[in-house]
Amino acid sequence: MPSSPVNPDQIQEQMQALQAAYAEKIGKRVLEIKQSWEQLVQDEWSPENLRTLHRRVHSLAGSGATFGFAYLSTIARTLEILLTSILETGNPPIALQRIQVQALLSSLNQAIQEPEQALPELSALVALHSSPTKSNSSHLIYLVEDEPELARDLALQIGYFGYEVVCFDNSSDLKQAVLQQSPAVILTDIIFSEGYSAGLEMITALGRQLGSNMPPVVFMSVREDLTARLQAVRAGGKAYFTKPVHVPSLLDKLDELTRARPQEAYRVLIVDDESHLAVYYSLILQRMGMVTQVVTDPFDLIAVMAEFNPDLILMDVYMPHCSGLELGAVIRQEPAYVGIPIVFLSTETDLSKQLNVINLGGGDEFLTKPIQPDHLIMAVYARAQRARTLRSLMATDSLTGLLNHTTSKEQLLQELLRAERTQSSLAFAMLDLDHFKGVNDTYGHAVGDRVIKSLSRLLQQRLRRTDTVGRYGGEEFVVILPNTDGDAAYKIMDNIRQRFAQVRQQAEDKKLFATFSCGIAVYPEFPDMDSLMVAADKALYRAKHQGRNQVVLAGKP
Ligand code: GH3
Ligand code: MG
Ligand code: MG
Repeated sequence: MPSSPVNPDQIQEQMQALQAAYAEKIGKRVLEIKQSWEQLVQDEWSPENLRTLHRRVHSLAGSGATFGFAYLSTIARTLEILLTSILETGNPPIALQRIQVQALLSSLNQAIQEPEQALPELSALVALHSSPTKSNSSHLIYLVEDEPELARDLALQIGYFGYEVVCFDNSSDLKQAVLQQSPAVILTDIIFSEGYSAGLEMITALGRQLGSNMPPVVFMSVREDLTARLQAVRAGGKAYFTKPVHVPSLLDKLDELTRARPQEAYRVLIVDDESHLAVYYSLILQRMGMVTQVVTDPFDLIAVMAEFNPDLILMDVYMPHCSGLELGAVIRQEPAYVGIPIVFLSTETDLSKQLNVINLGGGDEFLTKPIQPDHLIMAVYARAQRARTLRSLMATDSLTGLLNHTTSKEQLLQELLRAERTQSSLAFAMLDLDHFKGVNDTYGHAVGDRVIKSLSRLLQQRLRRTDTVGRYGGEEFVVILPNTDGDAAYKIMDNIRQRFAQVRQQAEDKKLFATFSCGIAVYPEFPDMDSLMVAADKALYRAKHQGRNQVVLAGKP
């Protein structure tokens, strides 16, 4: 079973329990090692038995230090190396080797008695990563600007994209308002009648008062001097725009600062035959808010992979019956799993052997046991994050970040199946910018690109989270609205159409307004994917034909 979300405060407790359980069994493990060695040298010499012993020692070496038996780990590691060299000869141990093994075995016995060291406290880094990131889903912007014309114009331009803008022309009103209701972002000028740096001073003071409750701040100013920029950074400014403000860039920044990221937890699959260790790693990663699943028998791996769908695999190298290296190669043969990072974990410290494992096992990184919680977290976190980003880049369009043609269609199919299952309606809309060739010809391709981006942004802002927006082609978009009938879909899309027509596009100093036409078809009136798409397309054609800048609902006169 995959882990469920855990209360972070319980984790340290669970770790202590884990350590206690490990400590309780350690005497028995050392005893077993001792006994199997004795059997081996007395009457049952075989490479097979030596390998079993070697594995036991290896696993002790790999786990001991993690649970507070660092000294024991070191001795076990030395013993492991010795046993490896015996194994490599293929012969029974010679007298000298026997004496050495005996000596190490009695040291192992002593090492169990060593007072355990406490488990490492999860450090500040862990706490830092695991504190829930403050996501600011509100769209309230406080704009501090003492030129009324400028303030009104900026508020209007930002307002089209779903932001609620409240304007202030002095610092004391702003302070009052922030204390009453904190905005998603404060957008402020720097030069006020109070002084050349008044905006900076106001924000610095407010920041001192509010501490960690201070909302993100974006500065904009005609000042381009380094002093102002430095002061802005020191005051905690997230961005600095020189006036005249480039509105599309400002919007990008506001989107970034206010995006509520319903980041799904990273999923990590842990493969280690030493179950104590596997659980230990799993607890550390859960403390970071990740979801984990442990596999102790390599033969379960493939089945679990398909079900658990991990973002990353953390894998032991030496395991009975098959190695992590072989497992890695098996995973890499499956095209669907090629992109999943594999982080290997082992006591192996020999760099060339480590590189060999990475090479043959299709691994991305090699971590040495015992591993510091911090290192584990950093390695896993960074790789899982990158893997996620890469995966989403493949599904989305680079200019707009919307779903691309292929994924839009896949999504439509999924949503249709869902609509069928739940017997609900679904609206499908196709949009196409009007006379867009003319926009490109008159203002240039870069301006055209910006228009595409501004429509994409407006669609994302105006639609629900459950809706899907895709860039279907150059200047064509699709929108999927689940649980929506024709009339409702018409209202929504027509509202977006009207807003879009009012957005002043950035075309250097020229005034430019763009429009789009839209065709909508609704399931179950059009009962499958093909008929739905054809109907929407025909409706769009009608919208164009009837004069553009309008929405047409298929099946309506
Ligand atoms: P209509 O109102 O009939 O849709 O007229 P239109 O000019 O938009 O029609 P058409 O489909 O003939 O032209 C689409 C133009 O869109 C052609 C192409 O130059 C432009 N375009 C397509 N993709 C992009 C893009 O990614 N960026 C920019 N800037 N322009 C694009
Ligand atoms: Mg077109
Ligand atoms: Mg067009």
